[in-house]
Amino acid sequence: MPESAAEIHARIASVAGEGGRLPTPPLAGWDIFPWEVVDGALVPKVLPPPGAEAARAGEVAESDCPTCTRDRGADIWENDRWVVTRPAAPSGLPVVLFLQTKEHLDFTDLDDEMAAEYGRLSIWLTRIIAHLPEIGRVHVSRWGDGSAHLHVWFMARTRGLSGVLGSFAAEWKDILPPVPEDVWRADLATIAQKLANHDGKAMV
Ligand SMILES: [Zn+2]
Repeated sequence: MPESAAEIHARIASVAGEGGRLPTPPLAGWDIFPWEVVDGALVPKVLPPPGAEAARAGEVAESDCPTCTRDRGADIWENDRWVVTRPAAPSGLPVVLFLQTKEHLDFTDLDDEMAAEYGRLSIWLTRIIAHLPEIGRVHVSRWGDGSAHLHVWFMARTRGLSGVLGSFAAEWKDILPPVPEDVWRADLATIAQKLANHDGKAMV
């Protein structure tokens, strides 16, 4: 069962001290990070000039695709065409999962049957995660600038952890201390088994 907001807040205090500040996450150093501090104020970076689009991971060759060559031990559920995969390690959010096609496809490659199945799986997965105790919301995101292989993010935030809201949950995922591994794995198993009640099979 996911931690409560009070449990998470106590865990942060044990790391950062009461009223303390957590360390800056690595994403602040990414080229695409849009903010910088100038004269003591947080301002948007100056936009660089237009340039060629960089090839995404797996765009040139499937043999270079991180999804097609992934560690299958991170798969928590599958059916004939889709797989649900966890990150390699727990993050600061209670649940982060990816829904991916087994075949090397991008979002725009789905035929009507796959599109309909994507819709059902997305709703089932969102509903299952949202109904876990202590979950406040489940965010579903597809960006697609990093990898050419379809991967949809499912990110849950904790109910009542009032500073973690909206699209910035993706940043808090890397700021908050990671969820305890035993809690994380137990919740992933619950989610996989509940999804298997609809279709496919759990792999954890
Ligand atoms: Zn692929």
